[in-house]
Amino acid sequence: MDAPHHEDGSGQGDARAPLAPYNGGTNCEEGDGMSKWECTVCGWVYDPQVGDPSQGIQPGTAFEDLPDSWVCPECGAPKDMFEELG
Ligand SMILES: [Zn+2]
Repeated sequence: MDAPHHEDGSGQGDARAPLAPYNGGTNCEEGDGMSKWECTVCGWVYDPQVGDPSQGIQPGTAFEDLPDSWVCPECGAPKDMFEELG
């Protein structure tokens, strides 16, 4: 009557492999969520990873963080002539 309490394959057979870790909440945005923006006038693309050294914009500067005085280095179009790339 004093059999050790072994649960041998009865009941708790939940031996499924764990799922791959779910990276919670990360959408499939590129980089740090900084988008490229394209000049609708000349097609020049602002890449936040590059910035715009010609106007003193450091690499890693999001388009949204560019000063209002910033203009397209190619054609001089203002920021509101730019369109966000998906
Ligand atoms: Zn332009």
